[in-house]
Amino acid sequence: MRDTEFLENILYDLWENHFCDVPRHNLVIIKYGKFSKRQLGSIKIANSKTKIKKMLKEKWNDLLAQDDKSITVITISRYFQNEIIPEFVLRAVVAHELCHYTHGFSSPLEKRFNNPHQGSVVKKELKKRGLWEEQEKADEWIEKHWRRIVSGK
Ligand SMILES: [Zn+2]
Repeated sequence: MRDTEFLENILYDLWENHFCDVPRHNLVIIKYGKFSKRQLGSIKIANSKTKIKKMLKEKWNDLLAQDDKSITVITISRYFQNEIIPEFVLRAVVAHELCHYTHGFSSPLEKRFNNPHQGSVVKKELKKRGLWEEQEKADEWIEKHWRRIVSGK
């Protein structure tokens, strides 16, 4: 089932196998957002308006254990609950957001660039981490099928 736990497993798997050198100094939450057609994923630091209260209750001890009390929230378009979408596409979206975290955007890590997409820094990061081929495969899939998914046909 494509529930929140499914998202969490993808995040942990990527972190462990491709981003293990990247320290996690704060609580990182991943969840489904709205049925977003254009923005497949996003990464933000939570504020008082971020809808994570229920999730936070379960992760309270985890939050208290962090040195940094900010909370990073990765939001995934709710269309990804549709199991027609291959897992590698979802993984590519999460990996992209993890690159931003690595570069210090919406994360407590040192900011390495002025702009999160400056000079293909995400592409370079994915290449370095052996994730670029998967990203290309995902882009291809999205180009072919995404429109059909979001139009519900
Ligand atoms: Zn981005």
